[in-house]
Amino acid sequence: MIYKDLLPMNMDGNAPTKEFLRRVADVCIEYVQHTFDRNSKILDFHQPEQLKDVLDLEIPHKPLNLDQLLVDCKDALKYQVKTGHPRFMNQLSCGLEVVSLAGEWLTAAANTNMFTYEIAPVFILMENVTMAHMRKIIGYKYGDSILAPGGSISNLYAALAARHKMFPQYKERGLFALPGELCLFTSMHSHYSMKGAAAAMGLGTNNCIEVPVDARGRMIPAELDRLIQESKAKGKVPFFVCATAGTTVFGAFDPLNEVADICQKHKLWFHVDAAWGGGVLLSKNLRHKMAGVERSDSVTWNPHKLMGVLLQCSTIHFKEDGLLISCNQMCADYLFQQDKPYDVNYDTGDKVIQCGRHNDIFKLWLLWRSKGDEGFEKHMDYLWEMTEYLVQKLKSQSDKFEMVLEEPECTNVSFWYIPHRLRTMKQGPERHKLLGEVQPLLKGRMMTAGTLMIGYQPEDEYPNFFRNIISSQAVNKDDIDFMIEELDRLGYDL
Ligand SMILES: *Cc1c(COP(=O)(O)O)cnc(C)c1O
Repeated sequence: MIYKDLLPMNMDGNAPTKEFLRRVADVCIEYVQHTFDRNSKILDFHQPEQLKDVLDLEIPHKPLNLDQLLVDCKDALKYQVKTGHPRFMNQLSCGLEVVSLAGEWLTAAANTNMFTYEIAPVFILMENVTMAHMRKIIGYKYGDSILAPGGSISNLYAALAARHKMFPQYKERGLFALPGELCLFTSMHSHYSMKGAAAAMGLGTNNCIEVPVDARGRMIPAELDRLIQESKAKGKVPFFVCATAGTTVFGAFDPLNEVADICQKHKLWFHVDAAWGGGVLLSKNLRHKMAGVERSDSVTWNPHKLMGVLLQCSTIHFKEDGLLISCNQMCADYLFQQDKPYDVNYDTGDKVIQCGRHNDIFKLWLLWRSKGDEGFEKHMDYLWEMTEYLVQKLKSQSDKFEMVLEEPECTNVSFWYIPHRLRTMKQGPERHKLLGEVQPLLKGRMMTAGTLMIGYQPEDEYPNFFRNIISSQAVNKDDIDFMIEELDRLGYDL
């Protein structure tokens, strides 16, 4: 059997099509079960050259038969890193929410484009309702939102809208509409996409001004105020401030109310990058971390991180309605005819700098339906409970683990593992240097063993340290106990 035996090539192909799809679904379901099986490895690590040897990746001249394609499907998953495994703590998006997966499958079957109501009526309405729900949780009364391909692009949308609001002529006249060099402000620990936005928007990375942070990684408001005044004195034109709610490495929450005061004083756009931390808004116990968010002009919030929605799912919200469309609209006649037989405000495609848009809403909507607001509150509280357990555990073994920050604010927990030979060494630059060398070696051992995955990086004056992320409902206390023992087993003699 080959592709010609299936729909749509074979008009009588219902039975073989069903059989083929069912077998592919079985491969996926088996993978899901392995993902949550603690006895299965997270990965079977191979160097790129080895992997090229064991896989046949070439595009053939002649059709391959369907049995071979099923083998290909299995092989593709065989060497894949199980990002939903309870001991995969490597990324801000961990886990595999089964309902959201079901949503992604349905999305693929519907295979539509989100630019017009004409071809995606149900999904457009879903997007409308879900975005309004999120804006309400943020504390915006009205406003507008869009799903974007990732938090980096969401941040770019915020900066574009801010510039458009301040200099509406920019869209037609470009740089000539500006009175001087625009600059924006974001903390030293903010996500690199703000710098990327400055580069992409023609501001230049020098005009992405980095505000110093305190010992816990939070933006220092007085420094922000000082830098704004300093750049004005230099003749620059500040227009945009980004506060981060949940920084990527430390998980710090910038003080939103104080940043809002400064933005108000200088009449600047106030953006909150809550790509990582936005989930705290769903819990009564946690949302105080983002107090003041309702005073912002825009918020980036990635449901594919703390909320566990399948990749990719990112949202950008605006307090003011109408900005996205007026900033980005190009009025392509072949898509956005104004004389269509329905309210063309439902054609969202002209609000974005993309043309086509992937359907990222269904997997979010379906997951939210399954949990309700109440379920998501429990979801968040559980992640924090597990994080607290981990922090206590690490602190109780201070000979083996050293915390980078004493009190993590989000579910990022940063620490050094201390191998046996360094446990008695006195603090100082030499020990610092050695600690920084040991963590990547331990990571290498983790990947070879396939039992654990945690990311590491240096930051500021700190040498390489592990940043453990708990953002999956699969993680339980036993996994945390396992992780601590496994780090010591793998790293003791380093
Ligand atoms: C992850 C992250 C981003 C980028 O989101 P992508 O979806 O990966 O583009 C932006 N800001 C913060 C704070 C993040 O943690």
